[in-house]
Amino acid sequence: MPGNPSQLDSLAPLSLPMVKQLLPRFGAACRPGSTDPLTLELVKCCICDVDDAEPLGVGEDFEYRTSPDTFLAVRCRRCGLVYLNPRPALTELDRIYPADYHAFEFSAERYGFVYKVRCKLEASRLLDCCRGLKKDARILDVGCGDGFHLSLLQDFGQKSWRLEGIEPNDRAVEMGRRKGLKIHQGIVQNLDLPQSSYDLAFMIATIEHVDDPTAVLRAVRALLKPGGRLVIVTDNTDTLDFQLSRTRHWGGYHFPRHWNLFNSATMAAIAQKTGLEIETLTTIISPVNWVYSIRNALVDRQAPQWLINQFSLSSTLSLGVFTLFDQVQQWMGRGALMRAVLKRSH
Ligand SMILES: [Zn+2]
Repeated sequence: MPGNPSQLDSLAPLSLPMVKQLLPRFGAACRPGSTDPLTLELVKCCICDVDDAEPLGVGEDFEYRTSPDTFLAVRCRRCGLVYLNPRPALTELDRIYPADYHAFEFSAERYGFVYKVRCKLEASRLLDCCRGLKKDARILDVGCGDGFHLSLLQDFGQKSWRLEGIEPNDRAVEMGRRKGLKIHQGIVQNLDLPQSSYDLAFMIATIEHVDDPTAVLRAVRALLKPGGRLVIVTDNTDTLDFQLSRTRHWGGYHFPRHWNLFNSATMAAIAQKTGLEIETLTTIISPVNWVYSIRNALVDRQAPQWLINQFSLSSTLSLGVFTLFDQVQQWMGRGALMRAVLKRSH
């Protein structure tokens, strides 16, 4: 039985223990073979190293139904970081990232027109970040998935650039390597890559997925040359879409796969903690969290499938409408995604 969203309308004033008592009342329909609850673990704020947080939202895996669990998003009272607590244990990664997970399957065959538009847009955004790089620049994509961004750099960037990716997922690594890309399998903290040797690193839709963002940023900093830059793109919690649907359906929660969600203040705090200098902190337009916030609300209310299908990564109309809508937010400096350009200064 899906949860009743109306029970959550007044979630904010509740204390954390009260919300935890509510949790068993909500259950999710799940995919075959996924009826067992996940093993969960309690965590602290990765910036403040304490758990002093207020409850923000309660939701389920609306997109993939990988488990019957209900999840709690909280906000650190000290720094404002939004994080999932408790969250799936690291032993559950194979289960919460199923074989049809979109980051591993963003292909022309599956997404057609949207794929072509996204390729052009992403290529121009990536090349923007590469301005001024030397011919033999070494570029690293941390959390590269199936190599989507690396392929764009290969196709649209300078042929002399040396491109490498890091990715833990077996299937994604295999797909990337099949495209001829150089991908190191594992997580950045555990790989033995040459220190102080990369000119530019990307973390695009990565930081929200990792278990220890502080350790990852420190490891990436050590790989950069002095003067090298790290570009982080992630969901922005300082947005209208977050405010409107944060109690349950916000697309950026991506329950239970987004573990830490930032805004400009918390991004600045983690940069400072990890010895990175902020060069620019801007927002960029994206329709995805708008579209998924609506989709999640429809799924939760058991809306007809034809209506749910109008809100997906392949629905040109809704992506188009919300791109325009997010353009308005962008003018106010509140685009749905945040882009941080951080620098290793010495
Ligand atoms: Zn904190």
